[in-house]
Amino acid sequence: NADQAMYAAKANGRNNFHYFTPSMQQEAMVRMLLIKELRIAIEEQQFELFFQPIVDLTSGAIDKAEALIRWKHPTKGYVSPIEFIPILEETRMIIKVGKWVFIESVKQAKIWRKRYHPNFQVSVNTSPLQFQSNSTIDWHLLTKNMGLAAQAIGIEITESMLMEGHDDISSHLLKLRDNGFQVSLDDFGTGYSSLSYLRKFDIDYLKIDKSFVKNLSDGSDDMVLCEAIIVMAHKLGLKVIAEGVENNVQQRLLAHANCDYGQGYHFAKPIPADEFELLLEKQAQAQAKYNVASEHSA
Ligand code: C2E
Ligand code: MG
Ligand code: MG
Ligand code: MG
Repeated sequence: NADQAMYAAKANGRNNFHYFTPSMQQEAMVRMLLIKELRIAIEEQQFELFFQPIVDLTSGAIDKAEALIRWKHPTKGYVSPIEFIPILEETRMIIKVGKWVFIESVKQAKIWRKRYHPNFQVSVNTSPLQFQSNSTIDWHLLTKNMGLAAQAIGIEITESMLMEGHDDISSHLLKLRDNGFQVSLDDFGTGYSSLSYLRKFDIDYLKIDKSFVKNLSDGSDDMVLCEAIIVMAHKLGLKVIAEGVENNVQQRLLAHANCDYGQGYHFAKPIPADEFELLLEKQAQAQAKYNVASEHSA
């Protein structure tokens, strides 16, 4: 832990400190404190799972949710996953936390399928380490034992996870897909993006990264790219989800380009499960009203 590391550094003698600038030393300290706090966070269950709607752009229905982890730090409040997921990965703590995320997602998917939507899906972000050993068998058994169809769960992976050297991931993905899990390629178009992945791997959804959606306007380069991605994905048999939809204009342009789903603050921010359920409840009531109205007019 942090104290031991400091002790070790001191015990090695002052000379060792010459290699560290004060800012590097500070950075290392901050990191060690964070690791310590994350260990406590796991013990004391300080994590929460939020859900963000994924909206069918044709019908407007909430068909799916993405599960997004939140850390409620005892003094700092909510800490962004961007800050702590990499540390959880480096320390392998992501295996335990990822399993919790998975189980919580299965629980919610089961409830929402039963109450609101027989085809409802919850998609889960994953990290490379989670694909080691027999994790995929675990996921399959877990889902089965909890009485949920694998089709209810989407596994979100990123392009970097499909890069060379991660051969184990691809074989696990194949098995997961054979078992019925849905696979989404997250943050498409960023980082190590390569079209060859689309040829090599069978996936179900392609998520256009929010950086392409951010400045979307009629005739812009980003619009051309989105349109091309959507046409290509459809020809390959994939559905497309646009991330980071923040306004009406983006929604309209994406719908016009035949994008299947939208996700973003325009529809709703990531929210706790009970708030998410209120959205589903409202949708169900609106649907019921609509059904009554169309019965009367028939
Ligand atoms: P991601 O999977 O690409 O998730 C989408 C991110 O975009 C989320 O950030 C979401 O809150 C944010 N977002 C949604 N709508 C909008 C919008 O309209 N505008 C903008 N600017 N942003 C929007 P969040 O929740 O901070 O998560 C960040 C990243 O952390 C995720 O990116 C994902 O890579 C990772 N992550 C989150 N939860 C988990 C988890 O349970 N396990 C793992 N391994 N990674 C996770
Ligand atoms: Mg994601
Ligand atoms: Mg993304
Ligand atoms: Mg991501």
